[in-house]
Amino acid sequence: MLRAEGVCAGYGTGDVLTGIDVIVEPGTVTALVGANGAGKTTLLKTLTGLLRPRRGRVVADGRDVTELSCSARVRGPRIVMVPEGRQIFGSLSVEENLALGAWTGRDGSNWDLVWELFPALTEVRARPAGLLSGGQQQMVALGRGLLAAPRYLLLDEPSLGLAPLVVDSIFERIRLLAGTGIGVLVVEQNATVALAAAERGYVVEGGRIADEGTDLLDKPELVARFFGTRG
Ligand code: ATP
Repeated sequence: MLRAEGVCAGYGTGDVLTGIDVIVEPGTVTALVGANGAGKTTLLKTLTGLLRPRRGRVVADGRDVTELSCSARVRGPRIVMVPEGRQIFGSLSVEENLALGAWTGRDGSNWDLVWELFPALTEVRARPAGLLSGGQQQMVALGRGLLAAPRYLLLDEPSLGLAPLVVDSIFERIRLLAGTGIGVLVVEQNATVALAAAERGYVVEGGRIADEGTDLLDKPELVARFFGTRG
């Protein structure tokens, strides 16, 4: 499993995370929800190695990876992030964008999995990715992440800017990804959809875990505070 243990992290002199513990199990979806600016992306950055925690550790499959760089975390424990806003290259074709994820050389049968999970991409594989719809671009971003052969896949706001039906379809694919054995951690402001798709959820508030569990959607006070709408 992938764990953040007592992680404190921030930028400049301020702390954004003030002691966070999170667990991501292989083969499951874990949702991390919370308001704008709560620190969700900051936690993803500490898990991937983009930001070093000031205190605490990141542990993957029993190994302390806190000091490893991003690329070492992709190659070793296979922690891969799909960033917010997709970050695809609009002038490159769909296939070229996907191929960028294959740099670890472990993509192998994941190409088949990408075409199977995202059949809509087969029809547009030669098209510049900038011409695709937002939902298709999110599929490219997920596919590129998959081609890095992740054991843990961290998704930052995959529903951003997408229509509700497209969001549902993206989350169906996220469940299928977890079904292949990948541990998925999904950060979302769209809390209802993310928690409905997840085995376990965490609520981040003010740099701490305010609540966690398998039944967060059943808690009326949380629903009222965070989950009033779909997005
Ligand atoms: P959002 O959904 O808006 O991304 P979030 O929960 O992911 O929210 P973070 O992006 O982790 O929140 O940001 C937490 C806090 O850290 C915010 O107050 C933000 O302004 C600050 N912050 C984020 N990135 C930086 C940075 N590079 N330098 C300084 N402060 C930052």
